[in-house]
Amino acid sequence: MSTRDIHVVVVGISTAGIAISKAIAALAKKGRYPGLHVTIVDRNAYWYYMIGAPRAVVDKQFGHQLFFRQDTLLTPFEVDPLNPKHRFIQASLVAVNSDKSIELSNGEKLSFDYLLLSTGATNSFPANVIAPSLEDARSRLLQLHDNVKNAESVLVIGGGAVGVETAGEIASEYPKKKVTLVHSGARLLPSNFKAGLSDGAVRKLRRLGVAVVLNERMVIPADTPFDGTIRPLSLKGKSGNTYDSELQFLTIGPKIHTEYLVSLEEQLDTKLREANGAIRIKPTFQIDHDQLTAVFAVGDVNSLPAGNKYAMKAVEQAQVAAANVITMIEAGFDQNPKDCNVSLEEWDGSEANMIVVPMGRNLGVAQVAGIAFGRCFVGNFLARNVKGKDYFLAKNATEFPPGANA
Ligand SMILES: Cc1cc2nc3c(=O)[nH]c(=O)nc-3n(C[C@H](O)[C@H](O)[C@H](O)COP(=O)(O)OP(=O)(O)OC[C@H]3O[C@@H](n4cnc5c(N)ncnc54)[C@H](O)[C@@H]3O)c2cc1C
Repeated sequence: MSTRDIHVVVVGISTAGIAISKAIAALAKKGRYPGLHVTIVDRNAYWYYMIGAPRAVVDKQFGHQLFFRQDTLLTPFEVDPLNPKHRFIQASLVAVNSDKSIELSNGEKLSFDYLLLSTGATNSFPANVIAPSLEDARSRLLQLHDNVKNAESVLVIGGGAVGVETAGEIASEYPKKKVTLVHSGARLLPSNFKAGLSDGAVRKLRRLGVAVVLNERMVIPADTPFDGTIRPLSLKGKSGNTYDSELQFLTIGPKIHTEYLVSLEEQLDTKLREANGAIRIKPTFQIDHDQLTAVFAVGDVNSLPAGNKYAMKAVEQAQVAAANVITMIEAGFDQNPKDCNVSLEEWDGSEANMIVVPMGRNLGVAQVAGIAFGRCFVGNFLARNVKGKDYFLAKNATEFPPGANA
């Protein structure tokens, strides 16, 4: 047993951050490190299960369940609930300092022995819901549901999985609504999956009445809010065609916001990030800089290739990073970094090879073990039974104590 104080801070509590903080809090609960404290930080008071967003726009009851109270996540890991060792802070990370401290938007400065950054990437509403409280976030999403119901026409810009699912859900629920999906590429869905998947998606969306437009890049005025309110707009494509709609969704992929590393880059006089903001890492998930051995970047925030930007990959990465932090704790790295020789686990470089894309409750496409189920009924079967039932909500809800999303 070691009684030393060890402070682990995890920033960004979603797919990756949840897995990391629970794994490390579980070590604390085993009792060998009574001074181990896990502090979790997120800009939102809730975890928003964004994977369910496409269904939430047409199913109010479902949307209600997508928000989980962050302050409940680590309560099962407290040894003495009256004397809690772990803490949730609702704040944004503003800066990481070279003296092993971070600064938060609420003015707090936290020291850490180990820091895990899992701040992911930010999508447009409703793939992301940012609000001051869980209640506000929930009412924003539920209002969107009403707006979708009332809008006569919907434009979805971006034909990745999120755009295809969103257009499919809306067209399936409201067959009379005019739904248009515009995509800049020649095929729908991520390009690391087979072309047959796109053919199937185009065909099935058209069957639902969606107007699918490929090879069209929209010209989007910078002030277009994409906030889910009904706002009749006439947007132009580069082809010269005009697309009229009452409600618009932007699903062109997320942006990585890691401006919190700018001052550290200046202090260290080095670049820690790629041009798109992704944090450069070693295969161990440590930031790629010799003075930042105790700082990790996990999940969508890091510079791994696009085939890793999936929830299942974020969880696998989190398991490797958490195991490495635990190895370092057990080797006493936080006490004596210079004399501490540790061998850490490395990422195997594997990328996602499975995708299931529902389009409403009955249609969909899937790729499993390298085989694309696009046009055929197997895609529908897999979409309906694997993901289309509840977008894996029930499985993911078990990450939190019961009632956290009530
Ligand atoms: C609509 C949608 C559907 C998807 N469907 C699937 C799917 O079916 N299967 C699949 O495998 N993947 C899917 N994905 C991808 C998957 O959701 C992501 O790969 C995964 O969520 C990445 O997890 P993450 O923890 O790295 O980051 P994120 O989930 O992006 O979480 C980042 C967290 O950090 C917080 N944060 C951000 N900045 C700060 C800051 N400065 N300070 C404090 N907190 C901050 C955010 O509030 C958030 O909680 C989908 C994505 C979307 C948008």
